[in-house]
Amino acid sequence: MLLIRCPYCEEERPELEFRHAGEAHLVRPGNIAEMSDEDFEGFFFIRQNPKGLVYERWRHVHGCARFFNAVRDTVSDKFVTTYKAGEKKPVIKGAAE
Ligand SMILES: [Zn+2]
Repeated sequence: MLLIRCPYCEEERPELEFRHAGEAHLVRPGNIAEMSDEDFEGFFFIRQNPKGLVYERWRHVHGCARFFNAVRDTVSDKFVTTYKAGEKKPVIKGAAE
């Protein structure tokens, strides 16, 4: 069973308590109504989806219900680290920018 560490509960819990919530550290544009269709498509649909280390947003839905970020290896499915939402993106060698 895959265990994921929630940075708020400060313990490892079974994967079934969590939900993936997409790519982390996306910046929402200031005024979406004024964006071109191409820019909106880029913001809303286009993701990096690299092979290897990625920064992701997760939610502890069956625990504290809070969102947090994680660095996960998409090849091995291992979590390198998790950290609270709003904390600075950790620099991990080999991770996508
Ligand atoms: Zn939690």
